[in-house]
Amino acid sequence: MSISTLARSIVESPTLRLNEEARILREKGEPVIHLGIGEPKNKTPIPAILSSAAKLSSGDVKYAPTDGNPSLKKAIIKYTEENYGKVVGPQNVIVSEGAKQSLFNIFFSILNPQDEVIITAPYWVSYPEIVKMVYGVPVIVTPEDGSFQPRMEDILRAVSPYTRAIIVNSPNNPSGVMYPDDFICEMVSFCEKKGIYLITDDIYHKLVFDGKKAPSPYQYTKKDIESTHIISVNGVSKLYGMTGFRVGWVVANKKLVQVMTNVQAQTTSCVSPVMQAAAEGALTGVQSMVESLRLTIQNNRDVMMNELKTFNGIRCIKPDGTFYCMPDFRAFSNNSVELSNLLLKKALVVTVPGREFGMEGHLRLSYAGTVKDVTEGVARMKWALDPTSPNEIYIGDRKMVRDWL
Ligand code: PMP
Repeated sequence: MSISTLARSIVESPTLRLNEEARILREKGEPVIHLGIGEPKNKTPIPAILSSAAKLSSGDVKYAPTDGNPSLKKAIIKYTEENYGKVVGPQNVIVSEGAKQSLFNIFFSILNPQDEVIITAPYWVSYPEIVKMVYGVPVIVTPEDGSFQPRMEDILRAVSPYTRAIIVNSPNNPSGVMYPDDFICEMVSFCEKKGIYLITDDIYHKLVFDGKKAPSPYQYTKKDIESTHIISVNGVSKLYGMTGFRVGWVVANKKLVQVMTNVQAQTTSCVSPVMQAAAEGALTGVQSMVESLRLTIQNNRDVMMNELKTFNGIRCIKPDGTFYCMPDFRAFSNNSVELSNLLLKKALVVTVPGREFGMEGHLRLSYAGTVKDVTEGVARMKWALDPTSPNEIYIGDRKMVRDWL
């Protein structure tokens, strides 16, 4: 069977694979704790349910406009104005099957073969793979000081005549850190001066803790939406915990939106109108759940930080947002894949190896689940790795004895 070289080079999504492994173990009755998960446990907001149910029960479920329903785009325009202070029109917005498709559309539309995209590490696993899928070249910039904050000078060193875009994800999956306002400001002016696109993946921009606020990149440009090089990506997956609805969007100049619309017309045609109705319901309905989700996750973050404090050898930078943190486990192993496998096999805890995010020696832990998941998950990891922790624990009524330290 013949498979293309490019397709063969695309790696499996490690997070989706781990979800699947955890599901299989759970089905077998194994008491797995999932600290790999990238979605909160909340129920879908009622306005989203009602509005999608109304669309479904109308029986009128047909192709929708490729770039999104006008009424959903109207809600996105309002969201952009309220949250970014930027006035945009319907021709600046395209709705896609989740932010993932949005990113694919962007890279497909702006890159020629061998064009480069600068990606700051740690990065979301899909960025380099999507760039490769459109024959682009991911250029990874890793902070050398062990922090998760990219430095402007490192980025400048990575820029070449082939650089077409820099992607910034802040607050960041997997580290949870938010890049400082100054950095975003510098990035905006640098990209606009050089004519490089600045893609801001803002999927977590409302999930920010301790009274902080994610900066809007638009506040640092005087250019209007047609001449700015900022492309922003957002969606309902993390904002409302509506991961299964698959609705994301891009705000950009209208020429690029038109090209992305052509690309989408030839690939998925449109987002299902039922799912678009759900997204519209969520965006136009009462927003109190966004704050309650944020508070729940912030509390989980605090629990996670307290638990990790008592974990000898672990160093963890406190997240400013998202539902992830990325502790340094190099005191135990430099091989995060082996470490993650050991934790899954011996302690039945799912974690994601830092290697997948360009940060070897670290593990990504999610606190999107329950407080019990966090406390029990960390307790099991401590038991598995920290020799000062008790040698035996019970998982359910199963006695586990540590015999590998
Ligand atoms: N960007 C980042 C940084 C993410 O973490 C995710 C989801 N894990 C996405 C984009 C994709 O989100 P969606 O569900 O909207 O495709």
